[in-house]
Amino acid sequence: MVIGVDLGATNIHAGLVDEEGRISGEVIRGYDCTSKHDVIEVLLDVLSSLKDKARSVKKSVKKIGLVCPGPVDIDNGLLINATNLPGWGVVPIRDMISDATGMDIHLDNDAVGAVLAEAWVGKARGLNTFMAVTLGTGVGTGVVLDGKVFRGGRRKGTEWGHLIMSNKGLYRCACGNDGCIETMCSATALVRLAQKKGLNVLSAKDVCKAAADKDIIALEVMDEFSYNLARALYNYSMVLGPEII
Ligand SMILES: [Zn+2]
Repeated sequence: MVIGVDLGATNIHAGLVDEEGRISGEVIRGYDCTSKHDVIEVLLDVLSSLKDKARSVKKSVKKIGLVCPGPVDIDNGLLINATNLPGWGVVPIRDMISDATGMDIHLDNDAVGAVLAEAWVGKARGLNTFMAVTLGTGVGTGVVLDGKVFRGGRRKGTEWGHLIMSNKGLYRCACGNDGCIETMCSATALVRLAQKKGLNVLSAKDVCKAAADKDIIALEVMDEFSYNLARALYNYSMVLGPEII
């Protein structure tokens, strides 16, 4: 059994994962990401509670898989200037967690984690070239090319959420550019678009709920958002020629 952790910009999602990819003991904890030390404290607390859960069912945790948003140096265990974790800079997160827990950690990018999970137990089983797109605070991309994770020439992965798709996005991207896919297709973008059109919403879930309740403005927002997302996915498919996204 291993612990899988998705450290995002607003939440930690974590759980115990068995050899078949089944998840149990799921934990979701929110935080303010501006203090990396507070986030690390929350992360260590979550890991400790999951180890206790494993022990309570007489299982041992062999390893921790940790995924983070933004570029990672998997060889050296570094999280590198993640745009949606402002002020974090370069963080030796693998060794920090490993030193604190005494456990072996595998660090990777969150969208790479997603694409590998799809290859293991999801929709991409048996395929060779495919990608995963994560829509959260930002837009992450994980790419498998000819059966191998594509990490690019500098091995920092693909950051295709920052491809520029428009002269002007809904807000200036945390990367400093304007018109990034991320500023039109992330959960953040969905909320900004809804607020711009006058909806009183605070989260992407609020927008989806309003659309499910057939609120006419929310339905217009979903239409525009879906069009933007379709354009982004079309561009990705033209670049990669994937069997599935
Ligand atoms: Zn950007």
